[in-house]
Amino acid sequence: MSWPRLFPLIISTFILAATARALDICLPTSNDALLRPGGDADYFQPTVEGTVESGMFGCVRSKGRRFHEGIDIKCLQRNRRGEPTDPVHAVADGKVAFINTKPGLSNYGRYIVLQHNWDNVSVCTLYAHLSEVAAGLVVDQPVKKGQIIATMGHSTNTREGIARDRAHLHFEINFLLNPDFHIWYPKHDPQAPPFGNFNGKNLIGLDPAAFLRAYADNRKVNFAEYVSKQPIAFTALVGARPLPWLTLHPEQVQPASGIPVAYEIAMTTWGLPVMVWPRTAQELGGPQRRLLQRGRPLVQRVNEAELAQATCHELVKRNSRGNGWMLSESGRECFELLTYTP
Ligand SMILES: [Zn+2]
Repeated sequence: MSWPRLFPLIISTFILAATARALDICLPTSNDALLRPGGDADYFQPTVEGTVESGMFGCVRSKGRRFHEGIDIKCLQRNRRGEPTDPVHAVADGKVAFINTKPGLSNYGRYIVLQHNWDNVSVCTLYAHLSEVAAGLVVDQPVKKGQIIATMGHSTNTREGIARDRAHLHFEINFLLNPDFHIWYPKHDPQAPPFGNFNGKNLIGLDPAAFLRAYADNRKVNFAEYVSKQPIAFTALVGARPLPWLTLHPEQVQPASGIPVAYEIAMTTWGLPVMVWPRTAQELGGPQRRLLQRGRPLVQRVNEAELAQATCHELVKRNSRGNGWMLSESGRECFELLTYTP
């Protein structure tokens, strides 16, 4: 083959290789109002409170006092009995990590967790309140983007339930906090349901609507970079030792200037770690090093403006002397789970 004829082949091979590396994502249902200007009311299913915001991610429940870890996507199709029939799609290639077929065990009801690799970041997507899991779908099975994995429903284990007319898909994009959660959690709750690592308490997410819109705007968006740009609310130091989060998310660990004695972990208001800086003895004061040796995480930096944005978490609070910050009880629990090794 001559060079002029070979050239288009080389170019198209290059383009294919480049596109293979880019993220390939679709919406979780056929409802695409998310991507239409002014489409929020057609996309987000409100709670009984009735506001569109109550179906979004964040401190949107109970007048801003309660956190919603995902988004609630409105139903478009119903059968004659009024039951939702919208197919639920895998948003990207990946594999089935977990399926809960017993709705009575979780407020997610019947739910599926898929695992993906997005720009070398290990990430999960979660699909909840399903009426049915696709026939034959099993854990570890590979799935393709757009594959039907379930049918929308209103399953849950809460006393009040989800009314049929409010049927929706609860969708999350999240990360496993700790691969040894299945050992940690039963010690805290002997009644723990048999969900292994795929209990909602071990999954920490980011706003799926914001990410899906960012992706629609720019298909070349890099997921690792996107996560690193989530707003940092505070940082805390933990003593340097092998931490599961660092193994799961090496992309977050910044270069070290020497042998680290601590890791400074940056978190969003809701406790998603987004960046980790190894800190050497020279970078820390003596009192800090002594406190860290006692094994307690120490709040290092606080972004008060960011904390004020979302007051439903309070992972950090002012200390009793009022001259600094400390982790709250839920903040300590968050770090205990993040740093636990059996
Ligand atoms: Zn929800």
